[in-house]
Amino acid sequence: MADIISGKDVAEKILTTKIKNKVDELKTKDIIPTLVVILVGDVKASASYVRQKEKFASKAGINSEVRRFPDSISEQEILDEILKINKDDNIHGVIVQLPLPDHISVTKVLNSIDPSKDVDGFTPTNVGKLFLGEETLVSCTPKGIMLLLESTETDLKGKNVTVIGRSNIVGKPVSILCQQKHATVTMCHSRTKDLTAKLSDADVVIVAVGVPKFIHGDQIPKGSIVIDVGIHNIDGKLCGDVDFESAKEKASAITPVPGGVGPMTVCALIENTVIAAERLSQ
Ligand code: NAP
Repeated sequence: MADIISGKDVAEKILTTKIKNKVDELKTKDIIPTLVVILVGDVKASASYVRQKEKFASKAGINSEVRRFPDSISEQEILDEILKINKDDNIHGVIVQLPLPDHISVTKVLNSIDPSKDVDGFTPTNVGKLFLGEETLVSCTPKGIMLLLESTETDLKGKNVTVIGRSNIVGKPVSILCQQKHATVTMCHSRTKDLTAKLSDADVVIVAVGVPKFIHGDQIPKGSIVIDVGIHNIDGKLCGDVDFESAKEKASAITPVPGGVGPMTVCALIENTVIAAERLSQ
């Protein structure tokens, strides 16, 4: 039976030690890392993410401010708000909570963020730097996954990692990060033939498909580490992209849903804000 990799515990530890120490150091220079979250409209899921961000920010001792706008806000008004934030020396990080209403271009809005304040790591500049292996603000879910793997003391050098899902925010960046740690990465997606065969020699399985309980225990190699990125609310009960009950019988370690990757994503966001504050203050 697998060990449970608690993202909740790992995040708590990183927030209250490593990150908090960096924040205390910045405070001696009168710098309080400050994150602004732009929230458009009344999306229930976004509101709960935002609450968790505020909770984690307060644990780490940073400032977090939510700027709420109605659905009716124009694209230009959002762009103007971001321009104002880009110029404000007291703000170190900004994220725009997705989704946005249809009349607002997500690409235009995200691309308007100053890359040095882009703590979600979504701007082309930061994605490009990640691809090139340069120092950057790494997007939060892939970064959180790497922190989780680190917490298991897994050395990825020469290991086989199978990533299912090739989204810009999870699958692609996490595959690059694993390659940077010298893993051999197999990328799977909706056109992959014989997914089970692609999983058969994996030491680490990362699943980000957005389909509830998509991967079952009989597809999981014995002794592998399973990272479940998915999150779904099925009749009021949360589950991931992996069938946890069957997978835990095969894996050596597995992330739960909730309490796995989710808290690590928020932890990585807070760390990125602190890193941005450190860099902007130099
Ligand atoms: P996405 O943009 O919808 O991408 C899904 C990926 O899965 C695509 O690459 C797609 O392939 C692939 N896929 C879909 N069906 C498949 C199938 N039958 N076989 C193989 N591959 C298949 O999703 P995402 O944004 O990466 O998110 C994935 C999940 O993670 C969602 O449940 C999301 O809610 C969750 N998530 C959680 C966090 C967190 O912090 N916990 C953060 C981000 C996302 P194609 O490219 O071929 O279409």
